[in-house]
Amino acid sequence: MRRIEVIVTVHVESHNKFFSDLHLGHIKFFELLLKKECKVPMTLLIERSKDVSSCYADDKPFIDEIRKQNIMEVGLHIHPALSRYTYDEQKQRITDEHNLFTDAFGFAPKSFSGGHWCINNDTVKVISELGIVTDASVVPGCTVAAHNGTIVKYSDKFIKPYWICDNNLSKEAPISNILELPVSVVEDGQLVDIGRAETKVILDALYKMSLSNLVSSYLHMTFHSYDLLFANGKHNYMYDKILLIADSLRYCFDEVNFYTCYNYYLLKKGGKRT
Ligand SMILES: [Zn+2]
Repeated sequence: MRRIEVIVTVHVESHNKFFSDLHLGHIKFFELLLKKECKVPMTLLIERSKDVSSCYADDKPFIDEIRKQNIMEVGLHIHPALSRYTYDEQKQRITDEHNLFTDAFGFAPKSFSGGHWCINNDTVKVISELGIVTDASVVPGCTVAAHNGTIVKYSDKFIKPYWICDNNLSKEAPISNILELPVSVVEDGQLVDIGRAETKVILDALYKMSLSNLVSSYLHMTFHSYDLLFANGKHNYMYDKILLIADSLRYCFDEVNFYTCYNYYLLKKGGKRT
């Protein structure tokens, strides 16, 4: 009996000059999620900066509808890449964004991912202090680089979820305040950014994973909502790609369970509680 636990995160960005087009893409994406039967739970990690905070109001009706379906989670994503800043600078920035999010949506985010996947131990400390309980930024064995010169090299130590010990990304605890959900990486080191990776590459990796002797596997796939705009105008492209991957997983494994980040946290917390 081979089982796999799957998490899909979506970075919903607003940070570049194509903001207005991107926002149009976000709305189409949200509409798509509302129209289709959502078979795959996802965690939408939303990035907004102070100067465009008004768009939270634009997104709110969609967020409210998505949340009613009780299958999607909405969390926080922050640019620029945070790890080059001091603890105090990160504290200010993340707190500001956390407050904007909470004011706009009426609930506090439980899940987080850092811009360009660049976080450090100070980031973990700040999000923990704000009551966030999962992070989805670590890319095991990879060096990630952001436009502002930030470079983070992650060890290949953790390819499965782990409880971060003492806000130290390199230390695992039996249980802690923050559950890290590393992004899955395929064999050649290519990030499973399913908006960019060839479908065949992803399916090959999943098939190989299913052949391993491990009884239980973990897969965290991530993509950017704006890849919808770059898929030849086919706004259902990413969604159909995810459904194809989901069907392939069900073919390769005996049991496939999808989770949002927070639901996965609750599962693991329950399982580890003594
Ligand atoms: Zn981002």
